[in-house]
Amino acid sequence: MDVLKVGVIGCGAIGREHIKRLHNKLQGSRVVAVMDVFPESAQRGADLVGSDCKIYDNIEGIVNDSDVDALVVTTPGFAHKEPIMAAIKAGKPVFSEKPLATTAADCKEIVDAEMAGGKKLVQVGFMRRYDKGYRQVKELLDGGTFGKPLLAKCTHRAISVDPSYTTDMAVTDTAIHEIDCMHWLLDDDWTQVQVIMGADTKHAHEGLKDPQIMIFKSKKGYTVILEVYVNSNFGYDINCEVVCEEGVINLPAPAYPTVRKNQMISTPIEQDWMNRFIDSYDVELQEWIDDTKKGEVNGPSAWDGYIAAVTADGLVASQTSGVMEDVSVGET
Ligand code: NAP
Repeated sequence: MDVLKVGVIGCGAIGREHIKRLHNKLQGSRVVAVMDVFPESAQRGADLVGSDCKIYDNIEGIVNDSDVDALVVTTPGFAHKEPIMAAIKAGKPVFSEKPLATTAADCKEIVDAEMAGGKKLVQVGFMRRYDKGYRQVKELLDGGTFGKPLLAKCTHRAISVDPSYTTDMAVTDTAIHEIDCMHWLLDDDWTQVQVIMGADTKHAHEGLKDPQIMIFKSKKGYTVILEVYVNSNFGYDINCEVVCEEGVINLPAPAYPTVRKNQMISTPIEQDWMNRFIDSYDVELQEWIDDTKKGEVNGPSAWDGYIAAVTADGLVASQTSGVMEDVSVGET
């Protein structure tokens, strides 16, 4: 296969970014069809491609189009399951933005459907795994010279959030990245999780608990402590430090020039996630295109999506109970 012909389902913010990537920027793919429940959104997606892009208003149509080799799902999370299940039924590879689905039960249904079909088809958009810095941390950890990881400290801070952002979204929308990324970095599964609420910031809207501290315990005995603070009022600030037996690996925010002016030394800080991880999206989708053309899935799997959902359920339960909650995913 020279060119992977892709159908994109959901033409909102990230959908349109991925259409541009798949059609114009990356090697070996083009977008041949788009679908969105809202005709204007679908048209906006198709306009990025050109007049020969087909527009669908239903999932069955785009998934079963014989011109479409593979699907990219960029609908809101609650609308991921239906197109993923349709793609599995049609035997077509499907890349879905995170989360795989919004409940652990729905994720398990996807895992079971994929396994029943006997072929790996699903990849989940956990793009941190494609970030250069995180990949270097993984190489250092896997290299063995730092010894056993003992604990990790992470921060996930944003400037502010929309009024529609609720307390549980600190887990399902925000911490979900660390849930997957730290499971991948440490090559381990979570056994227990807990949320401890910080003192509320005045910058949070009515009813939102912010910041929150999340604690993860793993099977091999590692502990991860994550600060989620989405109304920091200063920037998008992602940090990760892994403390090992033979040393410490620290992944700070990417560097910008430091300037000396007005009796101050200052350095700008990243303002949004799009800029911080822009290269990761390119690497993620380029690897997906290359793997898909070879008939392989090597990125975050449906099982990883299920693990993330089960872990998120435990954290959301702990937001109310305040105690350690057990996380149990069973066996693959
Ligand atoms: P968005 O702007 O709301 O886009 C979603 C699009 O899908 C909208 O055009 C929406 O229409 C449409 N849609 C809604 N229900 C649909 C359905 N049943 N079938 C087909 N289309 C439907 O959302 P977004 O910010 O692009 O986010 C989309 C997904 O990407 C989410 O799962 C999000 O978590 C994920 N995401 C991931 C990252 C990352 O870092 N990996 C970053 C951002 C977003 P309306 O707008 O008219 O409802």
